[in-house]
Amino acid sequence: MRRYVIAGNWKMNMTPAKAQALINEMKPLVAGKDNCDIVLCVPAIDIPAAIEAAKGSNIKIGAENVHFKASGAYTGEISAEMLVEAGVEYVVIGHSERRQYFGETDQTVNLRTLAALNAGLKAIVCVGETLEQRELGYTETLLKFQTKMALTNVTAEQMKNVIIAYEPVWAIGTGVTATADQADEGNGYVRAAVAEMFGADIAAQTTVQYGGSMNDKNAAELLSKENVDGGLIGGASLKSAAFSAIVDAAQ
Ligand code: PEP
Repeated sequence: MRRYVIAGNWKMNMTPAKAQALINEMKPLVAGKDNCDIVLCVPAIDIPAAIEAAKGSNIKIGAENVHFKASGAYTGEISAEMLVEAGVEYVVIGHSERRQYFGETDQTVNLRTLAALNAGLKAIVCVGETLEQRELGYTETLLKFQTKMALTNVTAEQMKNVIIAYEPVWAIGTGVTATADQADEGNGYVRAAVAEMFGADIAAQTTVQYGGSMNDKNAAELLSKENVDGGLIGGASLKSAAFSAIVDAAQ
């Protein structure tokens, strides 16, 4: 009913030459693993090299951010049209590192999501609670709020191109993974928010990933959960063996 998506998020790692080498290493390891979509979201400067290296394989290339305006005086930013012309198919939006370090808000996440979708990109929209918010008992409220804010003014038709990644902030890059039950519960809150906005059918068809220290050891258990339809993977996506093992777990 809904497709698994295993997506790497390289963050600020890998030069173009290293990107090419890593993708060449990964290609034979993930070849024929067609029960999920396989995506690598890479730094903007790596996009041409990554697209060249991934040509003819089942690896798709994504960006890590997109600006919400079509063009203009936004020094340092990259538009959706630029990404599309470069051959990018996916884009990560609202990653917690962008929210934490670069002033990303629920409103700019929404604007970026609309810009990406209107340009025909697939948006991987990230939501997630901090440890403090979890301990205060706000996880459900927060996840539903972030999801609804991100998807404001998105059409039912556009939801086909929306993937939501539930990424508890306390689990990203920390080595602390949510338990499979916590991941399932968080993803369930996200799906419930989608259902409240778009109805049960669209919610049932929307891919909701888990992200936060997913690796080759814990992927199978996380991915076995009803509401976990894939992963957004940081650290482990920088190693061909670990990433391909996660792809295997999604088969
Ligand atoms: C991420 O960058 O989205 C992420 C989940 O990182 P890590 O897998 O390293 O925790």
